[in-house]
Amino acid sequence: MKIEEFGLWSRRIADWSVRYLETLRDRPVRARTKAGDVLNALPVAPPETATDMADIFADFERLVPDAMTHWQHPRFFAYFPANAAPASILAEQLVTTMAAQCMLWQTSPAATEMETRMVDWLRQALDLPDGWRGVIQDSASSATLSAIMTMRERALDWRGIRSGLSGESAPRIYASAQAHSSIDKACWVAGIGQDNLVRIATSDDYGMDPGALRAAIRADRAAGHLPAGIVICVGGTSIGASDPVAAIVEVAQAEGLYTHIDAAWAGSAMICPEFRSIWEGCDQADSIVFNPHKWLGAQFDCSVQFLKDPTDQLKSLTLRPDYLETPGMEDAVNYSEWTIPLGRRFRALKLWFLIRAYGLEGLRTRIRNHIAWSNEACEAIRALPGLVIVTEPRLSLFSFACKAGDEATAALLDRINTDGRTYLTQTRHDGRHVIRFQVGQFDCTREDVMEAVEVIGELEAEG
Ligand code: PLP
Repeated sequence: MKIEEFGLWSRRIADWSVRYLETLRDRPVRARTKAGDVLNALPVAPPETATDMADIFADFERLVPDAMTHWQHPRFFAYFPANAAPASILAEQLVTTMAAQCMLWQTSPAATEMETRMVDWLRQALDLPDGWRGVIQDSASSATLSAIMTMRERALDWRGIRSGLSGESAPRIYASAQAHSSIDKACWVAGIGQDNLVRIATSDDYGMDPGALRAAIRADRAAGHLPAGIVICVGGTSIGASDPVAAIVEVAQAEGLYTHIDAAWAGSAMICPEFRSIWEGCDQADSIVFNPHKWLGAQFDCSVQFLKDPTDQLKSLTLRPDYLETPGMEDAVNYSEWTIPLGRRFRALKLWFLIRAYGLEGLRTRIRNHIAWSNEACEAIRALPGLVIVTEPRLSLFSFACKAGDEATAALLDRINTDGRTYLTQTRHDGRHVIRFQVGQFDCTREDVMEAVEVIGELEAEG
C-alpha cells in the first residue's frame, strides 16, 4: 500500500468510526449472528494476489459490524463494561500507527516513562500510599498470574523458578468463593493446581470470613502444606461482593503471607473518596490490580497492577539474556521484567489522553452517575410485580429474578437479549439463576438506563 493510499483510507476509516459511534444507539446491542455465519462467508483459502482496499473495506462493512456485540453501546448492561472513551480511541490510533514494541526502556523511552508517570497518577487518584509503584498489564488475569507466581516463589524461597515444584510441599493460595475464575486459572498455570486453591467460607455479606481463613492456614501448615498467599476480592464479578480487606490483611501479616487484591472492576470507582470504604485496609496489601479498561474509560486492554514493593515480583519474573541487555543502562526500568510476556504494547498513552481529556473530576462524575442510575433502576425493577431483587446494588451492580423461578428468569433473559434494545447477562447466586444489571458504559445516559428498565418490564409482562 502506498503512503497516499494509506492517508486516504485512514481518513475514510476515521469517518466510518464517527458514524459508527453516532449511530450505535440504533443497533441491536448483542449480535444477531448465527454460529458459523461469518466463518462460512470467508473464503476457505487465502488470496494469491492483492485485493483492492475498496473491496476489503466493503467486505468489512458487509461482514463485521452486524456480527459484533457492541460493547460501546449505551444500553450495554451485561458482564462488566469494556469501555473505550473517544479520547482513548484516538490514543490507540496513534499507538497503532507507531506500532511500538515496548519491552525495554531502550525500545520505547516515551512509553516506559509515561507508564511510570501514569501509574503514579492513578496511584494518587486512588489515594494509595506514596512509594507504591506499578506496571500496566494486558489483563487482570495476567496481573493475578504475576502475583501468584510471586506468592509461590516467595514461599519457596525462589527454588521453584530454579528446580521446579516436584519434591516441594504444595504451595497453597486462599480466596473466597466470590473470587474470579482468573485466580483458578493462575493456579493452574503457575503449577499450583486447582486442589491447592483453598476456597474460604464467606460470612453473611459474601465476604471472606477471616476466622475461617486463619483456621484454614493453620490446618494446612499442620498437614505439611505451604501457605503462600491470599487473593482478596473487591467487587466480585457475580454480585459485586467484597472481602473485609483490613481483617484479611491482618491475618496475612500475622501468618507471613503475600496478599493481592483483585479489584478489576471496582477499582475504578475508588477514584471517588465516598466509595473507598469497600477496600479499607488496601494500603496494607502487597499487590492490587484494577482495569481502567473496564469502568474508567481506557480502551481495552489496560490493566494496572500496583505493588507496595516490586522487589519480590521482579525476583520471580525477571530474565535478562544478553540480547536484552542495554549496555550502559543496567539500572533502567524495563517493564517486561515485571510481567510474564516480553513484548508489550504502549498502553500508557490512552491513559494520558483519557485522564487529560476528561480530568479526574469528569471521570468521577461518570462513575457517580452510573451508581446513582443503577440504584434508580433497581428501585424501578423492585416495583415490577413479577420480579424480585436478589442482591442489592453494590456500586453499580445488582441482580434480579422472576418470582416464578429459574426457568422463567432464563426465559426472560432470552427474550431481553433477542429483543436487542438492551443486553444483560446471568449468574448463579445461592443456587438461584439471576440476571445481573450493571451500569458502566462510558457515555450512557439516565434515559438509556431507564429505557432498559422499560424493556425489562414490557418483556416480563408479555411472558
Ligand atoms: N477479576 C474480576 C473481578 C473480573 O470481573 C474479571 C473480568 O471480568 C477479571 C478478574 C478478569 O479480567 P481480565 O479480562 O482483565 O483478565
